[in-house]
Amino acid sequence: MPDTLPTSAFSLYDLHSHTTASDGLLTPAELVTRAVAMRVGVLAITDHDSVAGIAPARAAIQRAQLPLQLMTGVEISTLWEHHEIHIVGLGFDPQHPAMSALLAEQRQRRQARAVAIAGRLEKARLPGALAGAQALAGDGAITRGHFARWLIAEGKAETMAQVFKQYLARGKTGYAPPQWCTIEQAIDAIHHSGGRAVLAHPGRYGLSGKWLKRLLTCFSDAGGEALEVAQCQQPPNERTQLAALAHTFDLAASQGSDFHMPCPWIELGRKLWLPKGVEAIWSRYPALQCAAPDAHGQRGDL
Ligand code: AMP
Ligand code: MN
Ligand code: MN
Ligand code: MN
Repeated sequence: MPDTLPTSAFSLYDLHSHTTASDGLLTPAELVTRAVAMRVGVLAITDHDSVAGIAPARAAIQRAQLPLQLMTGVEISTLWEHHEIHIVGLGFDPQHPAMSALLAEQRQRRQARAVAIAGRLEKARLPGALAGAQALAGDGAITRGHFARWLIAEGKAETMAQVFKQYLARGKTGYAPPQWCTIEQAIDAIHHSGGRAVLAHPGRYGLSGKWLKRLLTCFSDAGGEALEVAQCQQPPNERTQLAALAHTFDLAASQGSDFHMPCPWIELGRKLWLPKGVEAIWSRYPALQCAAPDAHGQRGDL
């Protein structure tokens, strides 16, 4: 395994993906195998408030000698002006105490929110949601995605989109307001542990242009480095608009599929390219490419 990453011209980067360590359906080993099949060369596993998928993924890569570079990642849920904003951290030390402390708090917040969601569903005559969602989450971080899957299994809806619209989106029966950390706290933990912060899927928060610029100002002022400009499923023109915003705010650009499970629309590595005029995060921050020694002295994660 080389110590430095191949350049972007020769390698496909997918810097946003999920495993069973949060609400993904594939195990870390299954995910890295699929990434290779999809010709991804550099993958970041970015589970919700968890880094538990990284070590098993690295072990699987080494075991099978897969031609894949793994970048450490995480997707941290934050609260900003009553919006749930996701901050992706890349290239940090997953065992750094600043990161571990923040993720431990976030895990407690997730658990408390899950109890609140289940309480609301119970009042709406849907008992057993906590046990059901917890069983689906296993050891992983519990998310609304698990409640969604449980509700579908109970026959309450047919698709994920439907179940969120009916039960779990903001303002619906099963929505409980979360207590996430702030954007500043997420970025601080990422920086203290040696990583770079990316504002995830900026188009998915339902913000007007004016509010999106406010969010970018806050993110930038807090020291955030990059904008997720490219995802595999985006409305037409969004990529160009986000590229223009990255340029205006002098932010680097990132790209990721946000893969959760095999499905016809979202796939690892699919349609991931950056428009001209933006600088890729891996080019602006070459230190991301330096593999940091882990606790066992190996050079593995990036
Ligand atoms: P949480 O972090 O517990 O609030 O859960 C958020 C997760 O739920 C997201 O990362 C998505 O995986 C999933 N999710 C949110 N909204 C939708 C939606 N409309 N359709 C499908 N999945 C969704
Ligand atoms: Mn998710
Ligand atoms: Mn997200
Ligand atoms: Mn995600």
